[in-house]
Amino acid sequence: MQFKDLGLNAPILRALEEQGYKNPSPIQEKAIPPALVGRDVLGCAQTGTGKTCAFATPILQRLEAKNGPKRPIRALILTPTRELAIQIGESFDAYGKYLKLRHAVIFGGVGQNPQVEALQRGVDILVATPGRLMDLHDQGFITLDHLEIFVLDEADRMLDMGFIHDVRKILKWLPQKKQTLFFSATMPPEITDLVNSLLKNPVKVAVNPISSPVEVIRQWVYWVDKGNKTALLAHLMEQKRVKNALVFTRTKHGANKVARDLGKSGISAAAIHGNKSQTARQQALADFKSGKVRTLVATDIAARGLDMVVFNIQYTDRAPFETDSAGLDWLRELHFKVIDFRLSKDMDKIQSAIFKLGDQREKYPFDIDGAVLKVNSLSQRSILGETAKFPRWAAAYKYPPEQKESVVEDIVVQVGRTGVLTPKAVLEPVRLAGTTVTNATLHNQDFIEEKDIRIGDTVVLQKAGEIIPEVVEVLRDLRPEGTEPYRLPEVCPVCGAAVVRDEDGAFNRCTGAECPAQLHRNLTHFASRDAMDIDGMGPAVMCQLIDRGLVKTPADLYFLTADQLADLERMGKKSAQNAVDAIAASKTRGLERLLFALGIRQVGQKAGKILAARFGSFDALAQAGEEELTAIDDVGGVTAAYIREWIASPQSQHLIGRLKEAGVSMEAAQQSAGEQFRGMTFVLTGALEKFTRDEAAALIEARGGKASGSVSKKTTYVVAGENAGSKLRKANELGIPVLTEDEFAAMLEG
Ligand SMILES: [Zn+2]
Repeated sequence: MQFKDLGLNAPILRALEEQGYKNPSPIQEKAIPPALVGRDVLGCAQTGTGKTCAFATPILQRLEAKNGPKRPIRALILTPTRELAIQIGESFDAYGKYLKLRHAVIFGGVGQNPQVEALQRGVDILVATPGRLMDLHDQGFITLDHLEIFVLDEADRMLDMGFIHDVRKILKWLPQKKQTLFFSATMPPEITDLVNSLLKNPVKVAVNPISSPVEVIRQWVYWVDKGNKTALLAHLMEQKRVKNALVFTRTKHGANKVARDLGKSGISAAAIHGNKSQTARQQALADFKSGKVRTLVATDIAARGLDMVVFNIQYTDRAPFETDSAGLDWLRELHFKVIDFRLSKDMDKIQSAIFKLGDQREKYPFDIDGAVLKVNSLSQRSILGETAKFPRWAAAYKYPPEQKESVVEDIVVQVGRTGVLTPKAVLEPVRLAGTTVTNATLHNQDFIEEKDIRIGDTVVLQKAGEIIPEVVEVLRDLRPEGTEPYRLPEVCPVCGAAVVRDEDGAFNRCTGAECPAQLHRNLTHFASRDAMDIDGMGPAVMCQLIDRGLVKTPADLYFLTADQLADLERMGKKSAQNAVDAIAASKTRGLERLLFALGIRQVGQKAGKILAARFGSFDALAQAGEEELTAIDDVGGVTAAYIREWIASPQSQHLIGRLKEAGVSMEAAQQSAGEQFRGMTFVLTGALEKFTRDEAAALIEARGGKASGSVSKKTTYVVAGENAGSKLRKANELGIPVLTEDEFAAMLEG
């Protein structure tokens, strides 16, 4: 069934189509044809069923058929609230777009002048709330003598809101002969009386009430451009005959806009968010719940899945309850969730209730760790009072953490970013305190030894802090034969390098200088400001380089090309070239920074400087024996051992070899150059003959200076080669000294 099958004319069909309406809703299907031929209609339907369209379109078509130059009011729609009146007005706007009919909307709470002016210009259709209609009628601005069609919208709500007497009064002003379209969600006796007195042989139309909550939620994703989101939503709601929809938006403004736009499409909507008053929010929720509003638009804070279970009423401004349980019962009647509670005067029963709650704790959708005994009588509570710390009328019983048995199927070892080996028990899956547990951390070798946890053991589990599963104990009686004590591997399961115990003995650590598990951390440290100080090579860039397999050790950085870097996300051609330049510039940082950058244990910035000063080159350091090392102040036996172990390891040797191959300086920087450029910033521009840009930059940095890409007031010198352009001009503008290549070379000589 489509709208065109209902007998509506072309201009209305066209307007409906523009609104995205194709298929009529059940009430439209049933009410429009009889209304079009002038029959009275009794619609038992709620807002959100499409009833506005069901009465608006026949009104438009019937009035259009005999439109005259004078415009007496020929249709009156009486509706209880201002919001509904506005929505109905918007519907007439939308559906009557291609017709020449005029309508006006009048309601209270605002100045009457614009409304009076609209009436004086002449309107065919009047949408009104009862109060303002009576007011303007009494002032003589409204005549209803020529009325042909009368709509009473939301009759039961008129009754609820106390308007029914006004409605009866208004009815007396209407001509006897007219068509009446009557809508009400429910039919209480007063409404039935009204129906009987008002309607003549009506066509009765009823649509199903709104559905109950669903158990299964199906999800769809629609790709849509921003501007069409609400239109798509309106379309889907019509097409899929959505009776109620909950819409979430990111902002309050967005919620208002979506609700407004839906309203314009003839879909009633209310917005709730923090800027609305409590009353307004409650009204919106009540309207949504009762089906009077079809769509509720809320900000996404409401979508976070927050729920509330009431434990105790702290304050109420209604008459006080006599007991706590009476208050909770009252809340429950209002459909609040309240805490599971039992009432008892018998200590034995109380005790068994506590244990029973503990046994059933898994059935709650939230975690509990205890039960609370409360005095039920609120007057007794106030007599008992409270201390500074706790009420005297309540006491908590804390359940021991839930424990379950499981079998250790395997022990696996993970290598963290810092090289620490963490053993993990792989467990036979077991349900524990609300989740299925399949593994538990075994922390370190000491923990395993202390509890003597072995593969094949049956263990007792509990959750630490109710969250992290931990092994409490091993059930030795259940240990199968042939098990062996577990020892952490002596080589890294990731890279095969030797594993050593930390000096404090807590952790076992991989020593691999090129260990993939530690690569990201090693790279980030290598490039950091105090180490090789490579600009623009932060953690995010390193992640991408690792993911793409471009870098497997810190030395690989020196073999990256600008093209490879430009391919990365958020890296343009220019920043890629800058990165390549920065990497190249880091080659001359000197041995002190390199030693720190390599991440040798116990070798920090200070030790790096001391070792570089003492040995002058990496090769000299590599030759040094233990005695030579420990002879240095600040280098103890442990540090000396770490250094010698590091240098001896195959991964380290490979790394050093590659760094040398890349041309990374293995000499102490202080020996190769002074600090003559300390605090100076150079900008290189134009074509240099004696050096490449990178070489010149490296030479500047080796002397403690900085090479920058742009000229500013902070620039100390601009070195200008052949064909220097904008940078030279800018230097002249700012009065920055400009050096020729020869002058620069002379300066380098010192
Ligand atoms: Zn490793």
